[in-house]
Amino acid sequence: MKAEKQNQFQLNFKHDYSFDVVIIGAGPAGSLAATLLAEAGFSVAIVERKKFPRQKICGGFISSRAIDLLPKYMHSLFDKNFPVHTIEVVCRNKIHNYQSERLLGFLVDRRSFDTGLIRHAVKSGVTVFEHKTLIALDTVSAGSKKNHYYHLQAGKNGHFTLAASYVIGADGALGITALLAGLKRKRNRLMGNTLSRRYQNTNNNKTAGKLIFYPMPFSGGMGWSFQAGELLNRGIGGLSGKKRLQKLYSRLFSDSINEDRPYFWPLPFLGPLENPACGNLLLIGDSAGLVEPFSGEGLYNAFKSAQLAVRAIIEADKLQVDAETTYIPLYRRYFRKKFIFTIIGAIQLNLQAIFVPSTLASSMARLMENKLWFNDNI
Ligand SMILES: Cc1cc2nc3c(=O)[nH]c(=O)nc-3n(C[C@H](O)[C@H](O)[C@H](O)COP(=O)(O)OP(=O)(O)OC[C@H]3O[C@@H](n4cnc5c(N)ncnc54)[C@H](O)[C@@H]3O)c2cc1C
Repeated sequence: MKAEKQNQFQLNFKHDYSFDVVIIGAGPAGSLAATLLAEAGFSVAIVERKKFPRQKICGGFISSRAIDLLPKYMHSLFDKNFPVHTIEVVCRNKIHNYQSERLLGFLVDRRSFDTGLIRHAVKSGVTVFEHKTLIALDTVSAGSKKNHYYHLQAGKNGHFTLAASYVIGADGALGITALLAGLKRKRNRLMGNTLSRRYQNTNNNKTAGKLIFYPMPFSGGMGWSFQAGELLNRGIGGLSGKKRLQKLYSRLFSDSINEDRPYFWPLPFLGPLENPACGNLLLIGDSAGLVEPFSGEGLYNAFKSAQLAVRAIIEADKLQVDAETTYIPLYRRYFRKKFIFTIIGAIQLNLQAIFVPSTLASSMARLMENKLWFNDNI
């Protein structure tokens, strides 16, 4: 059935390459979706703007609930990383420590973690076009409503064209796929802001990672200091503008950052996009606005949405319907409807930070393990 669709399309359009699925962006969401689709028998390509290994601004904490969403054979990606059992919450200069016997997650270097994920995709047969940016996207309706096809143009050092039956936008918070597909009106949709920097860790503990959080309930944000081996990652995120974040950062860490790049990056934690799909084009991860509003955790929902998009495409292909009809109900159930509860949960955690800060570290551990009332459990 997949081949049949492709042949029909090939007759009408000239293109350099043709795949069942083209994914834009080789972040965690795109790489996981690509691997799972290739394993399900689809021909898959990823178009990635950067050359790998590439750096990504991130705290680098992967929670245990996010790890649980990865296939077991990918868990070896964590072999050389730093397990986290300790959380500290600092409120009004007082440190509240929580030690967990269970693993709360790992601290990773996103540069090597993301490279490891893309290697798995390549191993499963995915074609990767690195250092190529998506620049144009045309949707073609071939007669009946259920038959959408895509014609993509990618560039940087020479343009080429791709044909695909399905497209997944996994190109992050400032991704272009959502804009080209008309699912987002502004590139810089209302989002949170972050400021983050990496340092050499002088309190070098070679074996374990530690998370320190600095809740700022009155500024609608949070600071963090994550320690893993030789790395120390500090940052601050929230609703404030860049100038205010700079001030809060220097107050918190006695260090000032005055340049813009590469320290700032938007964080889409203000709610999932209303519409994540049209025809056979689906959005996942940060490109759909799926970051957790209290902690700023994005990897869990990046993996979750990748899984749901794969499920939706497999089902749509079997039923010969557009993938929007199978993806949108899943997206609404797991992200849109749930968002109101995660906002109430975020308010609850902020109130804990103000009135009972000693309980916050254990609540954050439960968030990471998916055990708070507003988390889901699929
Ligand atoms: C400062 C900061 C700290 C964070 N800390 C954590 C944390 O500790 N734990 C956690 O769980 N989450 C954290 N997050 C969130 C997390 O980083 C994201 O949610 C996660 O990276 C989303 O994955 P993604 O695959 O959707 O997008 P991304 O990781 O952003 O990947 C998108 C990819 O698309 C590519 N791309 C973009 N445009 C194009 C184009 N036009 N053509 C081709 N390719 C394109 C990009 O180069 C990139 O490789 C943090 C975020 C920030 C900003």
